[in-house]
Amino acid sequence: MPEVYNWQLGRRATYRYEEKHPKEQFTFVFNTNRCIACQTCTMAHKSTWTFSKGQEYMWWNNVETKPYGGYPQFWDWKILKMLEQSNPGQNVWNVRKVDNEKPHGVYEGVTIFEAPEKIGLNQEAIGYVPTDEEWRFPNFGEDTAHGREFTQSREGTFGGDNGCKSVLPEHKIWFFYLQRICNHCTYPGCLAACPRKAIYKRQEDGIVLIDQSRCRGYKKCVEQCPYKKPMFRGTTRISEKCIACYPRIEGLDPLTEGDQMETRCMAACVGKIRLQGLVKVQNGRWVSQMDNPQYYLIRHRKVALPLYPQFGTEPNGYYIPSRHVPRAYSQQMFGPGVDHSIDQYMVPDRDLLAILQLFRTTQRIIFSYKVEKGPKIFETNIHGKKFEMYNDTVIGMNRKGKEIIRVTVEEPFYVRPEEHPGAI
Ligand code: SF4
Ligand code: SF4
Repeated sequence: MPEVYNWQLGRRATYRYEEKHPKEQFTFVFNTNRCIACQTCTMAHKSTWTFSKGQEYMWWNNVETKPYGGYPQFWDWKILKMLEQSNPGQNVWNVRKVDNEKPHGVYEGVTIFEAPEKIGLNQEAIGYVPTDEEWRFPNFGEDTAHGREFTQSREGTFGGDNGCKSVLPEHKIWFFYLQRICNHCTYPGCLAACPRKAIYKRQEDGIVLIDQSRCRGYKKCVEQCPYKKPMFRGTTRISEKCIACYPRIEGLDPLTEGDQMETRCMAACVGKIRLQGLVKVQNGRWVSQMDNPQYYLIRHRKVALPLYPQFGTEPNGYYIPSRHVPRAYSQQMFGPGVDHSIDQYMVPDRDLLAILQLFRTTQRIIFSYKVEKGPKIFETNIHGKKFEMYNDTVIGMNRKGKEIIRVTVEEPFYVRPEEHPGAI
């Protein structure tokens, strides 16, 4: 099999096809600390693309409660188990080798594409087709926490002396929400698996699509996408998946007069946890663009981390891990960069705090940003570190450099004029 460079793993890795890259790559950052699991994103997607007959169990966007939830049920447990069984105890990271080409060190274990050879299997990747039962509940285990029960102490307070206090850095009782769409991977498992070559990655933006006229419903994509994001439609007997709302990404919505727009699930997010964009790619590497919010958060500050990078598909969805979740759990999910990410997020500096304000402020894609300095408004200590807040103004621009959004770090306070007390 050919070898491709996977920057998330810090090494070359096997893949079915030769290395090939788009001019720009669709990426997104989800801040898991902010999600309230309102499922507005899920319904935004559902009401746009999957409301027809045969799509009843199709949720291209879902928000699952970790550690017990999953759609389909147990999807990540199962893949992790298969990886472990193919290379017991050896799927580890070497974090001593870190540089720009290997920002999170080197993964020394096997990926889903490398595991079959390790155990003598003649197939492209390890995987499985979920059962019908596993697709039944999009949010199985909703709000179910992991850990010992809270008990009331003699003083009447919860937690107390039973070791279950909820104090940072890690809560003893915890859950968090994991938002999921197709990751429009650089090396998609679905694309590698398809015997009909019906799946392709677009040159202009890296969006991964299934050609509905070529698909014959063999479900190989369902089997070999480790994130289980292609879904089979019983009424048409072919597979479908998230299309990244490509007409919006192309700027075809008349609402914005040609400005490229975020996907529906991003634009609808109530919790302001989502920011989506495009990064430039040249010779297979991301072009350094410090004023692109995606590049800044993912590559420069390494605050946003890939979901299960060890799977080896180089997913283009990135997450700011939840700060109260046990680190070992988060590290298994987001790789070895978790401590570094949370350290920065808990005590953000001026630049990071400014850029975090851009999440879900406009439906238009922010291609670049700049910050106008404001006065210092607050100062405190967080876990022994000094934190200073400045009321800076953050300005987001479209592809042409035109201003599309302007926000301040401190949310403005409006007082309704007294002459209209009962006004709507
Ligand atoms: S997440 Fe799955 S369906 Fe989406 S591109 Fe990656 S492998 Fe394909
Ligand atoms: S809309 Fe935003 S806050 Fe609500 S569930 Fe989706 S990601 Fe979470």
